Amino acid sequence: MFERFDRPVRCKDDHLFTTIWVPMASLKAVRLGTSRFQHCPVGRHWTTVVPLDPKTASPSELQEAAAVHDSRIP
Ligand SMILES: [Zn+2]
Repeated sequence: MFERFDRPVRCKDDHLFTTIWVPMASLKAVRLGTSRFQHCPVGRHWTTVVPLDPKTASPSELQEAAAVHDSRIP
């Protein structure tokens, strides 16, 4: 389950993870329309991420995204 503002996202290199996506606010990333520039915890790089659409994403993609949360990396 995702928390209130958690959204599954995909980075430019096709890494999938979950991040906090607050509408109309920028907490720790630069907003670029529907994409954001932020750190990817999977590839450990700075990249552009876009939200995954739960309607078009496959269940395995959503599962993969849910497995990694950028604020829960040890
Ligand atoms: Zn990445």
